[in-house]
Amino acid sequence: VFQLSVPLNFLGSVYRELRQSLLDMETLFNLQKVNVAVQEKPNAPPLLLNQGGTIRFENVSFAYRPDRPILSNLTLTIPAGRKVAIVGPSGCGKSTILRLLFRFYDVQSGRITIDGQDIRDVTLESLRKSIGVVPQDTPLFNDTIEHNIRYGNVEASHEEVVRAAKRAQVHGIVEGLPEGYGTQVGERGMMISGGEKQRLAVSRLILKDPPLLFFDEATSALDTHTEQILLANINSILKEKARTSVFVAHRLRTIYDSDVIIVLKDGSVAEQGTHEQLVENDGIYAELWSAQEMLFTEEEEGQAQGRER
Ligand code: ATP
Repeated sequence: VFQLSVPLNFLGSVYRELRQSLLDMETLFNLQKVNVAVQEKPNAPPLLLNQGGTIRFENVSFAYRPDRPILSNLTLTIPAGRKVAIVGPSGCGKSTILRLLFRFYDVQSGRITIDGQDIRDVTLESLRKSIGVVPQDTPLFNDTIEHNIRYGNVEASHEEVVRAAKRAQVHGIVEGLPEGYGTQVGERGMMISGGEKQRLAVSRLILKDPPLLFFDEATSALDTHTEQILLANINSILKEKARTSVFVAHRLRTIYDSDVIIVLKDGSVAEQGTHEQLVENDGIYAELWSAQEMLFTEEEEGQAQGRER
């Protein structure tokens, strides 16, 4: 019995590893819809996160097509263990930053480092394993809710799946479904809303628990109240584990508490600082903030009047 169970256990763990990496890749390919053209260096070592996960873009220039530069000489630092927000007009290259970080493309000049290592010098697997993403549009697999969350970590127990779902504010919804965590979702399963999908993606990320986290408009489909609770939960996890995180968001109310806010314009950093510093600066951010606050106040008043009627 002993002789037989050892190779089977071994096979089991190889299978799980393989399944996990296939799923990670599947998620990423779905997410990016691109063909990987980058090459790994022969004998590249794995990425070592030995300084807490500091990400640096140094004089990075990048274009998808030669006639249309997206990032020009971009230099920015995402300090270890801090929460950083990247804001800027639609199409200014925020998601491109994520694609470059994952090495779906290589920079045309400059370099990107994580804890001092050029990302072109380490294995792709170690790089991509270190970064977790909640993308703008989360791919769901044709499978149960339980499995969709467990894709974050195929070894997780049911209790761990439930704990992640609770922190992602989706447990109550799942429990209300006729088949609970066994409910089939995806193209061939039950239709679920954009906001529910986003919360499943957050549960998946909580289970994956990567050292570097990237939220790309991750809560945009939620109502303000649910969004606030979810963001507070995410913040407490990030603080507790001292994780490095990047938030891309249009609604500044969701990121104003970041340690650093980076404002992109025309492919480089237009201004950066804390919310207070940027408001004080009276530049692009300050203008965006007051425009959004005005809209927000009008909406709130509209809702309040609606309730009174
Ligand atoms: P948004 O806030 O609307 O999500 P963004 O700031 O994240 O926008 P990116 O997705 O990084 O913007 O795109 C930057 C620019 O590059 C856009 O003008 C986009 O059309 C262009 N772009 C993105 N992907 C490709 C691609 N694969 N090939 C060519 N151009 C692309």
